[in-house]
Formats: sequence, structure tokens, C-alpha cells
Amino acid sequence: MSKSIERISLGSMSPGTERFLLVHRYGAKGARPKAYVQASLHSDEIPGMLAAHHLIRQLDAADAKGEIKGEIIVVPVANPVGLGQIINGAHSGRYELRGGGNFNRQWPDLFDGLLDAVRSKLGPDVEANVKAVRAAIGAKINQMNPDTELARLKVELARLAHDADMVLDLHCDDEALMHVYMQPMHWKEFSDLAAELGARAGLLCVDSKAQSFDETFSLPWSKLQDAVGDKFPIPNACFGTTVEFRGQADVFDEMAVADAAGLYRFLQRHGAVAGNPGAAPALLCDGTDLEATDIVRAPKAGVIAYKVALGAEVKQGDIVAELVDPLAEDQSKARTAIRAVNDGLVLSRCLRKLVSPGDGISMIVGKTKLAHRKGGTLLSD
Ligand SMILES: [Zn+2]
Repeated sequence: MSKSIERISLGSMSPGTERFLLVHRYGAKGARPKAYVQASLHSDEIPGMLAAHHLIRQLDAADAKGEIKGEIIVVPVANPVGLGQIINGAHSGRYELRGGGNFNRQWPDLFDGLLDAVRSKLGPDVEANVKAVRAAIGAKINQMNPDTELARLKVELARLAHDADMVLDLHCDDEALMHVYMQPMHWKEFSDLAAELGARAGLLCVDSKAQSFDETFSLPWSKLQDAVGDKFPIPNACFGTTVEFRGQADVFDEMAVADAAGLYRFLQRHGAVAGNPGAAPALLCDGTDLEATDIVRAPKAGVIAYKVALGAEVKQGDIVAELVDPLAEDQSKARTAIRAVNDGLVLSRCLRKLVSPGDGISMIVGKTKLAHRKGGTLLSD
């Protein structure tokens, strides 16, 4: 048995309160590959927590048989701060109510200062370079001096994840089909994750500009490659992914058991757990550039009446939804059509149907990059 459970305090924001992270650790510290899995950083996105519960059960059984080969860390509740944000019965888990913003944005830039920290240590040996970069990133995190609970949450999760070979951040969308985000250079090696989970979209981008959790750990490697890759061998040594476990209401054992089994087979295939998972099932999607996915937005306030189902294939100009003005005096003029600007798959819809101007109401996954998606932040806040 290699398992240990660690409890990490997040300090106290008010007298008499203290939250903590619970960490399930498997395998020998420093064993490779290292996989890091966390659930529900957006704390009102519950499907990942149930999948993590089932994954932990499977890993416990594997550990009892001595089948953990690498190091695996599972944090089933990545955000106890947000988990407690229940206001009059409504859970508000996406943004920190003290003003800290979106829990999955503005993570520390771990490339900042990295080049100076490792320049003298890089050489022709790729493994030695990976070691030096991981050590420098670890040292940077250790120097951080978090004061608030939120800052401490970020530092402690980063400390657990920063040197992993694989970082899996389990989220969900509003109403959505299963989908994954990752960097394009990882698709070939790691698209079996999308296959195992039956993902309907693999959304690829190097840098969404959102400073999301997964990119915090994968991006320093590609930035380092850009900076000195012509002089030294620098691999993309951290596969970071955000997995969107469908929609907020999709929390059922039947789904979570299958999802956890898919995650487990993925961990087997990549060497973290013993056993042969067999060939991955056929992919249900291609990897597509995130710039080819449009976020359809509401032009004004109103009530959304969808005209397309999840999984529908739409063409440019098709009506995705009608926006109803409930204050219209003439009901024949109450509806405004919202049309698709690209051809593609309807991946998501919003759960709450009362919308404000600019709200994203649907993601449509196309294959051709869209000019208006270039350059900006590619994720909705
Ligand atoms: Zn999320």
C-alpha cells in the first residue's frame, strides 16, 4: 500500500473558520509518470467530484494490489472556498465572492522569471533540462507568500501539480456534451483521453490568454521552447487538460463510473497504473483549433428559447435561438433571431435562460478558424 492522505490548511479568513484541501497520494514521491487530477475548481461544477470519487475507489483497489507505477495525486475538492459560497440556497461557485474573480483565471505565470532561473543550467541532455525547469518552477512556487485563503489555495494546488507529467482539471459546462481542452502539440499523444471519455470536441490552443489552471503548467514549456528551443532540447513536459464533464446537471453514478473508468484506462495507457487497458475506443471528434469554435452571444437582454439541441450540426446563418423580450408590447416583435456565424456542432447551451447583453449562449465547434476569435481571450469568463 502506497497511499497516504494529506490535509492542507488554507488558513483562516475570519476567526473560528478554517478550510482545507484533502489530497489522496498514491505511489512513491518522485516516481514517473506523475499524474495530477483535481475536480471542481469551479466549485458549482459537480460532475468531476463524483467522477473523482469513483476514480479514487479504483485507485485504492489498484494500490491494494501494488499496481500504482507512477505517482498519482487526486484532489477531489479543489475549491473548498467556492464550495461554501451558498447564498440563500443558490450556489455561486465560479467567482470568489470576496472579489478574487473567476477561480480558473489569473493563475500565476510560471514562465515569468523562468528563463533567467534556468539559463545557466540548460544543456544537451533533455532529461536534465526537464529536471532543472521543474526545480526552478518549484522554487518559484515555494517563494510565493500567500496571504489570503484564495491565494493560498492557488499556491497549494500549484505546489501539488507543477511537476506533473499530466495535469487533469475536471470541470463541466452549463449544458454540454463531453469535451476537452489541451494544447495542439499534445493531441497526438493524449487524444486517447478524449476517446476514452467519448468527447465530442477536442478544443486545441497553445494559450487561451485566460491564465487557466491547466495552462499554468503546460504553457511554460512551450514558451521556453519558443525562447531557447533552437539551442537546447526542451520537450512539452507537462500535458495540461481541462475536461468538461458535460453539464452542471449531469451528475449521476452511471456516468461517473464510466467516466472514472475512462480516466483509469488513460492512466494505465500512460504508465501511471499497471495493467493493459487495451486499445482506446475510436475518437468521436477531431482535435479542432479553439479559434474555430464560436461563442454565440446574446445581443441584448431577454429570455433565450433554443432552436437547436446539443449535438446538432448547424450551418452559418441557421437560427440557434430566439431571444424573447418579455416586455414587448407587440408580441409579434418580441423575438430576435440569434444565428450561427459558423458551420459546426452545437456543443453547449446555457442553463439559465435569462441572459444579459454579451452573455455566451452557445459554443459552436467549427473546423475553420474565425477572424473575430483571433488574438483575444478564447475562453468565456
Ligand atoms: Zn469550469
